[in-house]
Amino acid sequence: MNSDIGIQLDLNGSFKCQRCGACCATSGWVYVTASEITAIAAFLGLDQLTFTQQYLTHDRGWDLLSSPSFRPHCFLDSQNQCEIYPVRPQSCRTYPYQFSSMAEYREALKRCPELQRLVRKTGRQKTKK
Ligand code: SF4
Ligand code: SF4
Repeated sequence: MNSDIGIQLDLNGSFKCQRCGACCATSGWVYVTASEITAIAAFLGLDQLTFTQQYLTHDRGWDLLSSPSFRPHCFLDSQNQCEIYPVRPQSCRTYPYQFSSMAEYREALKRCPELQRLVRKTGRQKTKK
């Protein structure tokens, strides 16, 4: 895992998210695609325009559900659960498997108890680019 681009953890399906919400509670950038926007709007019972006005922001051509300055806790409820979990975007589904840099991986390791558990259990995770 020494590249700064395209780190992917090889967890062999052993990752079991504890649904603690620690990753969602950390303000970050949560990207969504057009099809994900459609799915999330439908899940919330909103038309696309209303959803876009209330829940999306835009940055450098990306649509975002959350950023450090916009809805930083995203759809996390008071019980630390994602309110749109069944239709959460792919960027959430692949967390914490794929990272764009070592710094991002280290941040995830600091906050994710399940990743810490696996790293304790197996040593440093195998990675592929
Ligand atoms: S969409 Fe849900 S799972 Fe993804 S960051 Fe937001 S609250 Fe967390
Ligand atoms: S921090 Fe890890 S264990 Fe907690 S919700 Fe996020 S992915 Fe799951």
